[in-house]
Amino acid sequence: MPVACRMCGGPAVLKRPKTGDAVCKDCFFYAFENEVNYTITNGNLFKRGDRVAVGASGGKDSTVLAYILKLLNERHDYGIELILLSVDEGITGYRDDSLETVKRNQHQYDLPLKIVSYEDLYGWTMDAIVKQIGLKNNCTFCGVFRRQALDRGAMLLKANKIATGHNADDIAETVLMNVLRGDIARLRRCTAITTGAEGGLPRCKPLKYTYEKEIVMYAYFKKLDYFSTECIYSPNAYRGHARTYLKDLERIRPSSIIDLIHSGESLSIKKDVKMPVQGTCTRCGYISSNAICKACTLLEGLNKGLPKLAIGKSNKSRRLLDAASQSSDSTNENTPPKEKKKDVTF
Ligand code: SF4
Ligand code: ZN
Repeated sequence: MPVACRMCGGPAVLKRPKTGDAVCKDCFFYAFENEVNYTITNGNLFKRGDRVAVGASGGKDSTVLAYILKLLNERHDYGIELILLSVDEGITGYRDDSLETVKRNQHQYDLPLKIVSYEDLYGWTMDAIVKQIGLKNNCTFCGVFRRQALDRGAMLLKANKIATGHNADDIAETVLMNVLRGDIARLRRCTAITTGAEGGLPRCKPLKYTYEKEIVMYAYFKKLDYFSTECIYSPNAYRGHARTYLKDLERIRPSSIIDLIHSGESLSIKKDVKMPVQGTCTRCGYISSNAICKACTLLEGLNKGLPKLAIGKSNKSRRLLDAASQSSDSTNENTPPKEKKKDVTF
């Protein structure tokens, strides 16, 4: 006898990874969409009139995010305007293909699309960065640049909010990584559903409580068009370990993912722990908790041919770069400075 759907009593076709309930396809869609709507309304993520840039990579998370935001905006009359915003990191054989998916999504969902590229913003593609620094710290450069590129793109679009496709597994992994690194500031920030409100361009995560496995099922049953190849420069070993560990935990106890997020949310930080204060970068004007932002520091490292000095804690890498500049100024007084790569600031 077929298993009955827990919600409607009809024949079930899947077992929800999040709850373990057997459900039919329609009831799964209903529950999935209602839960995301609850996250949005309960967290006050949007208000009527918001112009929301949806970070779109062509992958499953952002494709589901774009699809469901459009659906819920119409169904529940949020009154928001949605625009797809993609970042082209310049990774041949990966991002160029995934951007083709976003271009198709643009037509499928009838949403405008803006693409910003590392090459235009920083004068460097990830292909060129990897050529210079190898495959060890490439994700540090890519992550910092992408974060700022989304801000820059959203500002160009005159959006007042950014929505990203981070799912529950991503957030649980980040909680784990921040605990293991003892990074208190990030630990507190990583579970927040909205961040960056102090900088005037808040980012929110409507899929914060949505399990990755359910996103894959939703995309599959809805036949959404998404790109599923991994980045060719994807070593990110530390996150990889956290991911494997989390998957092992999930196998034993599916609620581990949500439990970890709840642990992060309930953490209270001692009053005397110094937390970074958000301000703006004196060089590029974008959000930073230091006088010069990490993107500018990394870019300076690349342009000076000293990328390794720019990696690591901001204050230390600034000191190293400043010291390197002073010593090269004093030893090369008669040598004209090398032509710099372009650093476009909007
Ligand atoms: Fe960038 Fe690393 Fe992600 Fe590739 S895996 S897109 S290099 S952050
Ligand atoms: Zn900067």
